[in-house]
Amino acid sequence: MARILIVDDSRTSRKILRGILEEAGHEIVEEAVNGDDGFLKYKELRPDLVTMDITMPITDGIQALQLIKHLDKDAHVVMITAAGQKEKMIQALKEGADEFITKPFDKEEVVKVINNIVG
Ligand SMILES: [Mg+2]
Repeated sequence: MARILIVDDSRTSRKILRGILEEAGHEIVEEAVNGDDGFLKYKELRPDLVTMDITMPITDGIQALQLIKHLDKDAHVVMITAAGQKEKMIQALKEGADEFITKPFDKEEVVKVINNIVG
C-alpha cells in the first residue's frame, strides 16, 4: 500500500485514477488541481508517489515535476500523458519522472506501473 497524491486539472481523471488506485489497495492522501497546488501538497504530505498530469493551468506537470525533484530528488513521479505528447514525455524523463501512464486509463496498466515503483 502506498500513499499517493493525484495531480490533475480534470475532475474526471482524478476520479477514475482514485477509483483504480483505491481498488488496488493504495491510499489517496490528497488531490491537487494544478502544478502549484501539487507542489504545495507534496511538500506538506510527502506521499510515496505522485501521479502528475502534464497539461494543467498555472503550473503544468513538467514545472511541478521540476519543483518536486528539486525539493526531493528521491520523489516518485508518474506522468499522466495524452497522445501526441512525446516531446513532453522525453523532457519529463530527463527531469527525473519514473514512468508514464497514457490517457485514456487502462486499469491493469495503471496498477502495474504504480506497483512496479512502490510495490
Ligand atoms: Mg490536464
